[in-house]
Amino acid sequence: MKFPELSDGALLPLAESFYTIQGEGFNTGKAAFFIRLGGCDVGCSWCDAKETWNPSLYPPTPIENIVNEALSFKAKSIVITGGEPLSYPLDKLCTLLKKNDLEIFLETSGSHPYSGRFDWICLSPKKKKPPIGNIHQMASELKVIIEQEDDFLWAEENKKLVPASCLLFLQPEWSKRDVMMPKIVEYIKSHPEWRVSLQTHKYMNIP
Ligand code: SF4
Repeated sequence: MKFPELSDGALLPLAESFYTIQGEGFNTGKAAFFIRLGGCDVGCSWCDAKETWNPSLYPPTPIENIVNEALSFKAKSIVITGGEPLSYPLDKLCTLLKKNDLEIFLETSGSHPYSGRFDWICLSPKKKKPPIGNIHQMASELKVIIEQEDDFLWAEENKKLVPASCLLFLQPEWSKRDVMMPKIVEYIKSHPEWRVSLQTHKYMNIP
């Protein structure tokens, strides 16, 4: 851990927090409080949260402050995202959220050790830094970003590792959506175990 002050999870580098509607994946359309943690070393070229990559830009924030803010909103669903949130131990944050009866969704690439306790895990594996440990086994949904043709193969490789109950989503990379969307449609028509996920927040002009 490069930042010893973050090593026990009582402080986390909070890039931003906001109340909005989940735009992607299974929980699309649900109001939720988003906790976006700074820090990611995966390096996706199309990442739409590049400003979060360097965790030293963000203040180590007491988890009590984060949870108190979450409690000020009406919805009881929390999305923990990043950056890569599993860069930090999330046990303490999850324990505190759960003490307050909040429902916790995790968005992760799975490229760092698992920690915490979640009601829903969205695993979005990246070729540049693949998932480690047994995170595939814990995934509630597998969401694979389709930027080019061979990402369908990557999706199938990851599908082999998740449980039968795991929901399967293909999501076009935003800047390639015009080219990839028709291919995704045809793929899902011939592989109906997959569903399409769209970044609907971008159409709604919300964060
Ligand atoms: S894993 Fe997520 S946050 Fe990290 S670079 Fe890729 S898209 Fe961005």
